[in-house]
Amino acid sequence: MSTVKNTIRPLVLAFSHVFRRVFTAKYPYEAPSRPSRCRGRIMLRIERCISCGTCEKICPNIAIKMVKLKGSDKLCPQIDFGRCMFCYFCVSYCPAEALIGTELVEISVYSKEKLIYPPEKLAEEPKWPDLLPKPKRVKLRVVGRRGAGHVEIGRE
Ligand code: SF4
Ligand code: SF4
Repeated sequence: MSTVKNTIRPLVLAFSHVFRRVFTAKYPYEAPSRPSRCRGRIMLRIERCISCGTCEKICPNIAIKMVKLKGSDKLCPQIDFGRCMFCYFCVSYCPAEALIGTELVEISVYSKEKLIYPPEKLAEEPKWPDLLPKPKRVKLRVVGRRGAGHVEIGRE
């Protein structure tokens, strides 16, 4: 009896989903809105940096190295996102608020060397990678206890 029940129940459950609304986003063509505390690629505001080196000392993964800015003696952080675990210690402890968080998490590349961001690159506004189509932003919302439905809220 329980064998029949254990076979029928999942089938009924699976079939019932045919009539439900889609509850996932077709990433990367659609991307869910990011939560406000999402930790993405870190950005550097060079003009605010006082070269104190706190970020380098605080980083638990040794992902930060102080390097000279091109054409200047000023030291600024270089971040290796291949080592970074996005703990945001550097952002929290920076006394000058020179390091700020952004919500861009799409920073994958084909070689790990490209994950090393010198200060000049770190200072650039994060932008959606050229390789991926610009996604439609969708908002995921919980429907009951069984999953989430999605509502389109327009293109970025
Ligand atoms: S977020 Fe954490 S791991 Fe990444 S660079 Fe900053 S301190 Fe290091
Ligand atoms: S980014 Fe912030 S913590 Fe790092 S060297 Fe500059 S001022 Fe200091």
